[in-house]
Amino acid sequence: MWEAEFKLYLYPDNPEYQIDVDRLTLQLKKNALLGKTLSPYRYATGEKFLSLFTFMGCSPNIELEPQDDKPYCYIEIESQNKPRFISGKNTKYPPCPHCKEKLSAQICTNCNQSLDFTKVNWRKSAFISSSWICIGNIYELEAIPNDQLLNTLKSETGSTWKTAYIRDTQVTNIGA
Ligand SMILES: [Zn+2]
Repeated sequence: MWEAEFKLYLYPDNPEYQIDVDRLTLQLKKNALLGKTLSPYRYATGEKFLSLFTFMGCSPNIELEPQDDKPYCYIEIESQNKPRFISGKNTKYPPCPHCKEKLSAQICTNCNQSLDFTKVNWRKSAFISSSWICIGNIYELEAIPNDQLLNTLKSETGSTWKTAYIRDTQVTNIGA
């Protein structure tokens, strides 16, 4: 299955919160964000997909028709029993809080201290969550979820949802 390099993620504000995947899937099919099922956790975009986001730039050039080995837009829903750190090549690490050295990983190469991921403002370039909705083949800030979509997610889950844009996703276990 084709895997996108650039992805938009929607995730609940509470990192511990686990979504009920079946229930949310059903609701998002009703809303027509999700289209037909492509694999157990991957969906084609639904009829309303384009109206649930604001697209930047003059005309979005987005392939909505599923392809075998070419770029297309798809949606995946994932939920796990522990928070994970989701990052990518574009993740903006802060300077080391202990010595101000420029960081590119959790452990500082200068002072050897470890960065507490939960205390960082990742500025939409990484996040910590147990659950997320991933939209494949959306470039950074190319699309922004609109209020209708964010309100649906909030009323379904009781949590506020946030957005991140990740290039070449890496999922890391954190904590115990
Ligand atoms: Zn340091």
